Amino acid sequence: MKVHQESQKFCSKVIGSVYLDPLGWTSTLAVRTQKGRLVQITTSGDRELPVATGTPLEVRGTWQGGSSAGEAAVAAAASTATASRAMGSTSSFRASSVRATAQLRPRHHRPSVTRTAARGSASSVPPPLPRISNPVVEKDISTIFIPIAAVVNPASQASTLCPGSSQPMLTAAQLARVVFAEQNQANATVGSIFGTCSFGKSQLTQGNSRVADLVRLPCTDSSAGIPWSFASCQIDDISGLADAADAVLRARGVPLEKYKHRVYLLPPAGPSGCSFGGVGYIDCGSDMSFECRSWIGAGFWGVPQVLAHELAHNLGLEHSGSQNAAGQYDQYGDGSSLMGACCSARCPSTPQAWQLGWLNLAQLDGSRLAAGKTRRVALASQDSSPDSGLRVQADWAPGVLPLFLGYRKQAGGDGGMDGSLGSKVHVYRADMGPRTASSPWMPAHTAWLTALAVGESWEDPPTGLVVSVDSAAGDSATVRICRKGGADPTCGALLAQAKASP
Ligand SMILES: [Zn+2]
Repeated sequence: MKVHQESQKFCSKVIGSVYLDPLGWTSTLAVRTQKGRLVQITTSGDRELPVATGTPLEVRGTWQGGSSAGEAAVAAAASTATASRAMGSTSSFRASSVRATAQLRPRHHRPSVTRTAARGSASSVPPPLPRISNPVVEKDISTIFIPIAAVVNPASQASTLCPGSSQPMLTAAQLARVVFAEQNQANATVGSIFGTCSFGKSQLTQGNSRVADLVRLPCTDSSAGIPWSFASCQIDDISGLADAADAVLRARGVPLEKYKHRVYLLPPAGPSGCSFGGVGYIDCGSDMSFECRSWIGAGFWGVPQVLAHELAHNLGLEHSGSQNAAGQYDQYGDGSSLMGACCSARCPSTPQAWQLGWLNLAQLDGSRLAAGKTRRVALASQDSSPDSGLRVQADWAPGVLPLFLGYRKQAGGDGGMDGSLGSKVHVYRADMGPRTASSPWMPAHTAWLTALAVGESWEDPPTGLVVSVDSAAGDSATVRICRKGGADPTCGALLAQAKASP
C-alpha cells in the first residue's frame, strides 16, 4: 500500500446520506482537489463535521492506496478504483485532522428580533412575544430531474441493459407526476411538499423546474479521466455518471445552468451498485461554484418525500434525529420531520422550517420569563399558519442550545405523520440561531426530545424549564412554560401534571 503524508487545502463537499440502507452511505465528506476531483475523506470515529458544501477546509492525513474493504459492495468499488490508481491517482484520504479555514457558525447565537407582533389589548394579558424569522433560503427551488438508464450501447435505442439493471422505474411523464403539483393535484408531489410546507415561500413548479427525457448512459465509462461504473457506488461513480448525464443533456441543448439543483435518478444496478434511497449535497454553497447535486436510488423514483428530502439537504438541512432506546442519537429518529426516516408525508421539523425561512417563531428568553415565573403561550399548528412555533433561548443557562416548540397535527403537509405524534406539542433542541449575512448558519442535526399531549408536562434539566400542555385542539394549542427559581424553585404546579413518557 502506497501511503504518504499530505497536507492540502481543499474545498469541501458534504454528501449526506441515505434512507433505509444501514450498509450504505452515511454522511460523507468529500473534497474537491485543485485538479477538480472529488476525494472522499474518511475520519477516525464517526463524528460528523460541522461543515457545509463550499466550506474551505484544511485536511491533514494520509492517502489510502489500497483496499480496506470488508463488504462486497466496497470491495467491488475498490477494484473499480484500481484503474485510477494505476494512473497515479488515489481513491481516498484518511484524515487525522479536518479544520475549517473560514469562520464557522458562532457557538452561541444572540437572537435578533426581526418582527414584532401587535400588542394585545387586555391589560392583564402579557404582550405577545416578538416573532423572529430568517430570510427565505430559496424562493425558486429551480431543479432539473434526470432519469437515467444504464445500457450497453447508448447509441442504439434497442440496446440491451447493463448487467443487473432493468427498465427505468418510471417514464419521464410518470416522473413529472411525482414532481409537479400542476400535474397531480390529488397526491403529494415534490412541488406540493415545498409549496405547502413553506406556505408558498419556496416553490418548485413547472415554471422553474423540469423533468428531462431519459438519459441513456453506458455501463461504465470515464469522466475527466476518472473511471466510473454502475456496478459500483463510490463518489467517483456517482459523480462520474452525473458528469456524463450532464454532457448528454448539454448535447441535446438543455440549458443546465438554468437549474440550480440537479437530481439524478439512478437505475437498478445489481448487487454492488448503489442501493441507497437517496444522497444529496448538504447545502450547495452560496456562490454556485459547486454544482448542486443529489441522487435518487432505483426504488424511490416515485416517492416524492425522498426527492424532497434530498433537495432539502441541498437547501442546508441536516437530518432530524432523536435518542433511541439505547441512549444513542439516531439521526433519522425524528418522526415529525421530512428529514427523519423515510417516507410518510411530513414537513420539516419546527426548527428546520424556521431555518429555511418558512416559519415566524415566537421568541422567549430570560427578559420575558424571569426565574420562578410561568408564562402561557398559544401555538398555532404548523400546518395552519407560518406564525407558529416557539424558540426558547435560555440565556440564563450559558452554553445550552435553544429549545423549539411546535404544535403539529395530521393535516396539510403533516398529513402523513404517525398518529401517535399528531395533535401534540413537539419539543426539539437545535443549534440554530437567526441567519444573517455575517452569521450564516451551518447545517446542524436537530434533536427531537418529546411530544406532549394535553395534560402532560415535561422537564428540561439543562434549562430548568417545565413545559405543560393545557389545550390542543383544531389549529391551536396552549402551553405553559415555567422557569424554576426564585419563588417557584420546582415549578411544582406544572410538574404535578402527568409526565410525558420519553
Ligand atoms: Zn438524508
